[in-house]
Amino acid sequence: MEKTLQLGLLENSHRFLCEAAKKARLAEDQPDEWMFAASALVQSVELALKAALADIHPVLIYENIDNPKRSVTIGIAISRLTNKSIGKIEFTIKDKKRLDRAIAIRNEITHSDFSLNFSQVEANFHEVFAFLAEFNRRHLETNIDEIIDAADLVAFLDNRKHHQEMLLRARTRLEDEGIEAHSLRSCSYCTEDTFVEEIDGFRCYLCHHLEPSVQCQNCGESFLEEELEDFSDAFQADYSEGRHDVFYNYGYDFHKACPECVAEIKQHIYELEQQNYFDQMMEDEYQDRVRGN
Ligand SMILES: [Zn+2]
Ligand SMILES: [Zn+2]
Repeated sequence: MEKTLQLGLLENSHRFLCEAAKKARLAEDQPDEWMFAASALVQSVELALKAALADIHPVLIYENIDNPKRSVTIGIAISRLTNKSIGKIEFTIKDKKRLDRAIAIRNEITHSDFSLNFSQVEANFHEVFAFLAEFNRRHLETNIDEIIDAADLVAFLDNRKHHQEMLLRARTRLEDEGIEAHSLRSCSYCTEDTFVEEIDGFRCYLCHHLEPSVQCQNCGESFLEEELEDFSDAFQADYSEGRHDVFYNYGYDFHKACPECVAEIKQHIYELEQQNYFDQMMEDEYQDRVRGN
């Protein structure tokens, strides 16, 4: 029962978030759509906060727990979630301000005489969107790419404000998780150095792009397909009539490896060649001697 309530809230929160994303994309050509995008986003925030409260105890979604009729406002939800004896969730001052601003915008929209500056609404939208994406991941176990269409997410990345907000949060996450800079790769989608190795592949902490990993057959470590190098030019081969016929592979039945292993393998092949050359020389000398030359 408690789980059903939480899932219902979460599902609705995600529906509003999808709606917000769709409207924000429409707003590129029709600025009026920002009104709908902004209010759907606030609705999604409210439901997400309630889902997090319901996860602790369902009665917490009500303003008065002794008389559970009216559900909490965003303000009360935040103060409960941050209460050390209830939620222990931290909100930065910046995030609180941004949420306040989003609520103010929503309230303004509902009044007929609103005087909104669309570029401010847009900026706030991307701030709150990035906040909500992070909140879903940290506290509701959902990644943003499980909620929003990939096409919408990609389109958002062209927006400087969006990119910057998502990047800031990705960097904070990298720091929180203690991921060191040297283990990061550059994401082929958003080009930021926020590409992290996970169990099932590499994932971008900014744009959530996921790429499967391949194993280097020499050392067993995980790499991106494009990182592996072909070392078959070190094999003995015939190049005739445009064909490349390998006739000796020095015992390597694969021809791609990570850069470090490729250097090692080439050195190994070189040593084997030297050894072969030396053996051949000794053999020839021996034959010469046998023939009595
Ligand atoms: Zn990326
Ligand atoms: Zn390797």
